[in-house]
Amino acid sequence: MNEHLKKYIELQKQFHATKNEPESVRALYAFKEELEQIKDKQAQEVLVDVYDLLDFKKSAYDLLSQIGDRSDRKTLKRLSVMKEYAEHWGNGYAIPKLKTKEEKQKDQERWAQLGLPSFRYHPDPLDTGIFEQSGEGVVCDCCGKTTRIYYRGPFFSVEEINYLCPECIANGKAAKKFDGEFQDEYSVDDGVDDPDKLDELIHRTPGYSGWQQEYWRAHCGDFCAFLGYVGGRELRALGMLEDVMDDPMWDDEQRKMIEESVNGGSLQCYLFECLHCGKHLVWMDVD
Ligand SMILES: [Zn+2]
Ligand SMILES: [Zn+2]
Repeated sequence: MNEHLKKYIELQKQFHATKNEPESVRALYAFKEELEQIKDKQAQEVLVDVYDLLDFKKSAYDLLSQIGDRSDRKTLKRLSVMKEYAEHWGNGYAIPKLKTKEEKQKDQERWAQLGLPSFRYHPDPLDTGIFEQSGEGVVCDCCGKTTRIYYRGPFFSVEEINYLCPECIANGKAAKKFDGEFQDEYSVDDGVDDPDKLDELIHRTPGYSGWQQEYWRAHCGDFCAFLGYVGGRELRALGMLEDVMDDPMWDDEQRKMIEESVNGGSLQCYLFECLHCGKHLVWMDVD
C-alpha cells in the first residue's frame, strides 16, 4: 500500500468516527491540497477518493475520467455512478470547511478585483451562488450595462426582471427604479430598531432563495449576515451545530429537524452569523 493511500484510510476513519467534525474536515482539505500538487498516478488516484469523500463530485468524476483505466470494469462502473452525481450536484454540495481569517480576506480581495461591491448582510454572494458569472456577460435591466456577474435571487417587483448587476443592487437603484424588494420586510426577526438597517437589507442587499418565503434572522439589534445553505452535516463540519441549536426560536422537535436536515433536500437550513457577537443562527423550511 502506498503512503498516500495509507494516509487516506487514516483520515477517512477519523472523518467517519467523528461524524465529520471540523478537525477531520480540515485535515482532509489539507491532504487534498497536498495531493493536488503531486502529479504522479498513485497520488491522483487517492485524490479521486478524497474528492469523492468530501463530495466534490464533479472534480472526482473529471479526474477519474482523465486517469482511470477504461479497460477495467470496476473503473467503468464507478465512472458511470460518478457521472450521475457530477451532473446533478456538481461541486455545489461539497462538505464545507471553516474559513480562516486569511481565507476570508482573500475572498474579499477576489470579489473586489472582480468589481463586486461589498454587502454587509450577504458577504459572499458568489460563494452562496446568488450571483452567477457569465463569460459573455448579460445586460442589466436597470442600468443597461453589460455585466459578467449577475443576480439570480428573489426580487419582489411587479415588473419582470431578468438580470441585475451587483452595482445596481448595492446603490439601491434597482429597488428604486422597479419599486422592488430583495427581502420581504415583514419576514425578518424583531429587534432591529434602526430603519436604515431595514432599508439596507430589503433594498440594497442581494437576497437568498428559500423553498418558501425567505426569512432574515437578526441578533444584537442588527440583521445577521447570510452565509449560505446548509444541512446538519454542514453544520457539524463547520462546528456550528450546537451554536445554532442554542436558540429560543426552536423547540426540541425542531432542533432534531435541524440536526437531520440535508442541504439541497426537502428540509433545508439557511445559515446566518451575527455581525456583532459572531453567534450563528439558522432559518429552516421545507419544500
Ligand atoms: Zn446595473
Ligand atoms: Zn449577536
